[in-house]
Amino acid sequence: MKAWEVVIGIETHAQLSTQAKIFSGSSTAFGAAPNVQANAVDLALPGVLPVLNKGAVECAIRFGLAVGAEIAPRSVFARKNYFYPDLPKGYQISQYELPVVVGGKLTIQLGESEKVVTLARAHLEEDAGKSLHEGQGQHFHGRSGIDLNRAGTPLLEIVTEPDMRSAAEAVAYARALHALVRWIGICDGNMQEGSFRCDANVSVRRVGQTQLGTRREIKNLNSFRFMQQAIDYEVQWQIATLEEGGTIEQATVLFDVDSGETRAMRSKEDAHDYRYFPDPDLLPLLIDRQWVERVAAQMPELPTAKRERLLAEYALSDYDAKLLTSSLEMAAYYEAAVAVAGAANAKACANWVMVDLTARLNKEDREIDESPVSAEQLGGIVLRIADGTISTNIARKVFDALWNGDGNSADEVINKHGWQQISDSDALESTIDALLAANPTMVAEFRAGKEKAFNALVGQAMKMTRGKANPQQVSELLRKKIT
Ligand code: ADP
Ligand code: MG
Repeated sequence: MKAWEVVIGIETHAQLSTQAKIFSGSSTAFGAAPNVQANAVDLALPGVLPVLNKGAVECAIRFGLAVGAEIAPRSVFARKNYFYPDLPKGYQISQYELPVVVGGKLTIQLGESEKVVTLARAHLEEDAGKSLHEGQGQHFHGRSGIDLNRAGTPLLEIVTEPDMRSAAEAVAYARALHALVRWIGICDGNMQEGSFRCDANVSVRRVGQTQLGTRREIKNLNSFRFMQQAIDYEVQWQIATLEEGGTIEQATVLFDVDSGETRAMRSKEDAHDYRYFPDPDLLPLLIDRQWVERVAAQMPELPTAKRERLLAEYALSDYDAKLLTSSLEMAAYYEAAVAVAGAANAKACANWVMVDLTARLNKEDREIDESPVSAEQLGGIVLRIADGTISTNIARKVFDALWNGDGNSADEVINKHGWQQISDSDALESTIDALLAANPTMVAEFRAGKEKAFNALVGQAMKMTRGKANPQQVSELLRKKIT
């Protein structure tokens, strides 16, 4: 019997980083008391009219540009009609037949190899409110309640073609998309607050079969780990069901984090169930070339372009360049450090950022833009290693001092503690003479052929100079004196 092939398409709701809602002036800030941030427009009370937020449109344009999509010169808002307690107005304003962003591609990383995922579309829409059930949050006193603060929050729904072939690919896609929307500044990517949520459409088919299998859609995956677990479970469940002679019903399912299982929530609606029609309150959205060009001029350098530039300008490996462009903050930090340390020390800066800095940030659970050691300070450390002022060991002490706020720059810390390397060979020679005089046994052992005794002497010399001697120079001098 032939094996199974997994097919996955992903729909992502990215909450756009605008101050105001997509069709009203009320605030989108997270965490307010229930129902204080929903106004008459968000609720579609009789007689109100929605007004499109230009900022939300510009976010969509930015996204379209970043994935090489077509920005539709004319797109249309439609009403998607359904009833749900968190949608008292009875319809959601979305885009249907004519979305604002059409097509596009995103390259994902799978270990060493890459894969291009094709995007179908991205459209603007408003979010609904939220049902809070007993015990969720401190409001509603143990009863269920409806919080409409989120109603009208701008979303960009980004839809892929069914291109992914494993849970790992789906997660790699979600990660790449998450990094990109943050990079271009359209979404804060806060998954815990629901700013970035993915639905995974999963089906399986026999290898070699061209027709797609029936899919089930796993809703609202708000962590990469849950996405992996949910898809893994769903895939084995679908395969087991089919192998036992069962059939898959198209359905919407939820992932239960406690049991690790997916559970059917409702049978899936078809598009015609929603009775989409163009929203009569909103004009078609027209975007001309000039508007696209204005937005394009404000775009940051994109991750792939930056990666290629880093590879070309500095002697970095592919791996370094990828890691350093994994977020805009990381890339900005790195480039600011190199600006201080100089291009000749770009590789050393990369090592410091990727190893020492990253380890310390992870240990203290901080993001790079919260680093107590600034990029300029780190660049200063690297510069002083490169010009021989300090050794790498002392550099770590300088780093610690700056991390703890003990000084404003590497130079200040080095001077304050007198941590300059002793490269003055007269000073070093007298230290070594004293050392040899005090350790005749070790000297004899070395002369008798014990290399270990020599290393012990180097160690002693480093200790006597409190680590400030250049170890290379110490061992050269020592060898000269005792052989
Ligand atoms: P809907 O609007 O009903 O959610 P779409 O056709 O827009 O349906 O598809 C939604 C997502 O599901 C897309 O990402 C698409 O690639 C994916 N998809 C569609 N059919 C399948 C399938 N048979 N298996 C896996 N994914 C699918
Ligand atoms: Mg859908």
